[in-house]
Amino acid sequence: MDYQKVLEKIYEGALPLMGVGKQADYIPALAEVNPDQFGICIVPVGDDAVAQVGEAQTRFSVQSITKVFMLAMCLSMEGDNLWTRMGKEPSGTSFNSLVQLEYEHGKPRNPFINAGALVMADVLISRLSNPEKEFISFVREMSGSFVDYDHEVARSEERQAYLNTAIANLLKHHGNIRNHISDVLHFYFLCCSVEMNCCELAQAFRPFADHRRPFSFAGVELTVSQVKRINAIMQTCGFYDEAGDFSYLVGLPGKSGVGGGIAAVNPGTYSVAVWSPRLNAKGNSVMGLKALELLTTETAESIF
Ligand code: GLN
Repeated sequence: MDYQKVLEKIYEGALPLMGVGKQADYIPALAEVNPDQFGICIVPVGDDAVAQVGEAQTRFSVQSITKVFMLAMCLSMEGDNLWTRMGKEPSGTSFNSLVQLEYEHGKPRNPFINAGALVMADVLISRLSNPEKEFISFVREMSGSFVDYDHEVARSEERQAYLNTAIANLLKHHGNIRNHISDVLHFYFLCCSVEMNCCELAQAFRPFADHRRPFSFAGVELTVSQVKRINAIMQTCGFYDEAGDFSYLVGLPGKSGVGGGIAAVNPGTYSVAVWSPRLNAKGNSVMGLKALELLTTETAESIF
């Protein structure tokens, strides 16, 4: 498959949507990003012929995509014990919904909504001697690049953290957070603030695409079966209340973030990352969704 050609065609196809949607503006650091940018990068499994188009080398805030890295670390340390503290069912609600968490007594539906990620942040703080350092070392080793936190993004999230603080309080009330709420929120926002470009992100997702190979990065080890299960959770929960639409339109496990990024994998074939800051009403990148829909349509390759 000539992915470079495919990406060029996709870019043409997605271009009419440039200007549609609105970038995240709940913090100045995200509101100030030029919204009319688009980049995409594919990293094939077992082949170094990386294909890229547009602003694939421009770093952006990965935001919720980071939850996949958090899950990989948590599963490697906790194994199935993790599921005593959260579920693995799609939520059908927005990523920062409080309602469901209240009536389900502080047990988040899945690791990819904010409530689940706050519990994962709590697990990592309990387990790691230096969570801030060990988390970024892991993402650096997965991406093969010296990626870093954007402390300004993390600080500005912390200043606007009313809803996430409410979620953390509810979790703490139900005994599902063991550390101080402020430490958990601080570490969660740092994890969300990691800046990466499409090629770094696609590279970091390659081990999920290369799902038959045991996973070992910076001391984080997963079995083939655990990698398969992370992909399953991406498939069912990676896009909040748009997971069904993403599955229908694209047909790949993936994860989105409010920075406008989406990372996805076609197990056994490639990993892909796309970025464009303008979001739809569900918080997913408009051009990113279109590009991935065109990708699996053009190549006639998906998990289905
Ligand atoms: N940091 C963001 C938040 O917690 C991440 C949300 C997202 O990317 N969906 O609200």
